Amino acid sequence: MISTPIIIGIIIIILLIVVVIKAVTGKEDSRLEEPQEKIIHVSGIYSIVRKSPREDLIKLRPPEEIIRQYLESQNVDMYNVALSGSERSALLEHWKEQMDANLQVVEDGDKNGVAFYYYDFPQVCPACAPFLSKGHFVSREEIFNNPQLVPPFHLGCTCTLAAHNGSADPKDTAVSGLRPFFTDKSVPALPDWKSTVTLPKTAEVSR
Ligand SMILES: [Zn+2]
Repeated sequence: MISTPIIIGIIIIILLIVVVIKAVTGKEDSRLEEPQEKIIHVSGIYSIVRKSPREDLIKLRPPEEIIRQYLESQNVDMYNVALSGSERSALLEHWKEQMDANLQVVEDGDKNGVAFYYYDFPQVCPACAPFLSKGHFVSREEIFNNPQLVPPFHLGCTCTLAAHNGSADPKDTAVSGLRPFFTDKSVPALPDWKSTVTLPKTAEVSR
């Protein structure tokens, strides 16, 4: 017969083993989960590419105060057209509105898995003309890597981003004139933000 103290001793040892196993496997579980999550975040091109460019773009663009100061120092736009006080304020408001609207286009596109965006010019933008034109397209990944690809590019810029909802290769679609903005891996030149173009006086014309 095995004596009671020995049985108790065996039970205690078994319990200890169970506790140790639980502690070890539990730790391994949490150790496994953490890096896996990180790997998904780092290597999952989908989650990375779909991060809104808003924060990164705001960091790249001049702060509002700098723009205000610059505008206050300008009496004419890049074509020597006189700038009034209200036109300077309108340019700053327009810059902020356009930045928000174009970021919204990308954020909305991300909800629908849009992979390409093309530039559109609802109104002619003379400062953009030497750099890009309607139909130039960029991939979502190019925007992720270069948030500065989101218009406006300069004060008074009328360039907008439009989601391309077609096939994976925008060149294969019925929309004419679409062509890649990137010709190689380097970011194409963009207008200087200080290139000021007076906004069209639509409000005054309609009066
Ligand atoms: Zn422009």
